[in-house]
Amino acid sequence: MSEGAAKKEEKPRKFQAIKGTRDLLPPETALWTRVERIAQEIFTSYGFGEIRLPIFEQTDLFARSIGLETDVVSKEMYSFEDRDETSVSLRPEATASVCRAYIENGMQQLPQPVKLYTMGPMFRRERPQKGRYRQFYQIDAEVLGGSDAPGIDAELIEMVMTFFERLGLEGVQLDINCIGDKKCRPKYVELLRAELSKVKDKLGPDSQRRIETNSLRVLDSKLENEQRLIEGMPHIADHLCEECAENYRGVKKELELRGVKYRENWRLVRGLDYYSRTTFEITAKGLGSQNAVCGGGRYDGLMELLGGPPTRATGFAIGEDRLILSLQEAGKTPAAQGRDVYIAWMGEKAYAAAIRAAKDLRAAGLSVEFPPVEQKFGKALGQADKLGARYALILGDNEVASGEWTLKTLATGEQAKLTEASLLESLRKGKTVSS
Ligand code: ATP
Ligand code: MG
Repeated sequence: MSEGAAKKEEKPRKFQAIKGTRDLLPPETALWTRVERIAQEIFTSYGFGEIRLPIFEQTDLFARSIGLETDVVSKEMYSFEDRDETSVSLRPEATASVCRAYIENGMQQLPQPVKLYTMGPMFRRERPQKGRYRQFYQIDAEVLGGSDAPGIDAELIEMVMTFFERLGLEGVQLDINCIGDKKCRPKYVELLRAELSKVKDKLGPDSQRRIETNSLRVLDSKLENEQRLIEGMPHIADHLCEECAENYRGVKKELELRGVKYRENWRLVRGLDYYSRTTFEITAKGLGSQNAVCGGGRYDGLMELLGGPPTRATGFAIGEDRLILSLQEAGKTPAAQGRDVYIAWMGEKAYAAAIRAAKDLRAAGLSVEFPPVEQKFGKALGQADKLGARYALILGDNEVASGEWTLKTLATGEQAKLTEASLLESLRKGKTVSS
C-alpha cells in the first residue's frame, strides 16, 4: 500500500482539553486581564515587585515544604521522572518556589523584608467541579524576611482586601486564626489528638485517618455528623504561648487600626504544613461550597526547612478562577469588547487611504477592523454590526477624490462628512467616551 492510501484511511482525530483544564476565551479573558492589571497596580503601590517562576520544580521541594501527609503532596501532584531520573512536579502552589528563589538568589542580602508577587497556573489532580480545576490560576504575594511585627501581617491582609474592594467583589468575609508556632502548637496538637481519639469511633474514615497524620485538619471537616463533636474540641487560643498570644493580639489591633473587618474562626487551619501564627482565609459570594477565594498566613519556619537562614515570612494565594467566577455571578463583567471602527472600503485609491487610516487610528489607541479584501458597502456594514463596531468609516474612491470621508455611527445610523484630519480628531475624542 502506498503512503498516500494509508493516509486516506486514517480518520482525523478530534482532540479535547484534558479533564480539569479549560480554555479561557474572549471576551471573558478581558476580565482576567483587568483583574491582573488591578492586582499589579495595587501590589505595586504597596511596594511589591513581580517575580516569575518556573512551572516545574524538583518534587522534593514541594514534599518538604507542603508536607508529605497533605492531600496536595500525597495524591494531587503531577510528578514524573525526568530523563536524568530526578522526580519533578508541576507546581501545585507558588510559595515553595518563591522561598527557593529567595535562598538561591541570595535575597537575604537585600533590604528586608523582600515583598514579591507572582501570578500563573498551578496544578493539582483533584476532582474537577465548579471552582475546582486541575489547572487553575493563583495570584500570590509573599513578604519575606524582616520581623514578625503584627503590622506586616495586617498590611498584607489590608492589601488583599483593598484589591477585592477595588474589583467590587461581593460578600467578602475575612476569617483569621492563630495556629501557634513550633513551641506551642505541638502540645496543642497532642491534646487535640488525645481528645479526638476518645471519639474516634464516631468520626468518618477521613477524619479517623487524619487524627494520626494531620490532626489539625480534622477541625476543617465539613461533614454534618462530625460538627457537634468537633465543636467540643479544645481551642488553640487557650493553648498559645505568650509570644504567639501577644503577636495575635497585635495583629487584631493592627487590623482594627486599618479598618479591616475580620471574624475569628478557631477552626480555620490551612491545608499545607508550613503555616504558623496568623492564618487567614477570605470567602466570597456566588461560589457554592468552593467559596474560598484567598488563603494565607505566616510561615516563619519554612525557609529553614529548605536550607535557608532563619527567615520570617507571610503571604497569601488568591484563587483567580474563583475570583473571576464570583465577579461574573455578580454581573461585574466588562462590556464585550467590540471594535471602535470598522473600515468599509472599496476601490484602489480608497484602499491606500484605508491603510493609512487604520494605522493612524490604531496608533491613537482605537480598536480597528480592516477587512483585507474589498466588500460591497452593504455587506461591510453588516459585518461591522455583527462585530459590535461603534463606527463604520466609509471610504470609496469618491470620498478620496473629494477629501470628505464618511463616518457612520452604527447605533443611530447618523452619518457625518469629515476631512481626514478632523475625522481622526473626532474619533480620538470619541474614544474616551466609549471606553
Ligand atoms: P480548598 O480548601 O478550596 O481546596 P486550599 O486550601 O486547597 O483550598 P490553597 O492551597 O490555600 O487552597 O490555595 C489558595 C486558593 O487557591 C484557594 O483559596 C482557592 O481559591 C484556590 N484553589 C485551590 N485549589 C484550587 C483548584 N483545584 N481549583 C481552583 N482554585 C483552587
Ligand atoms: Mg484544596
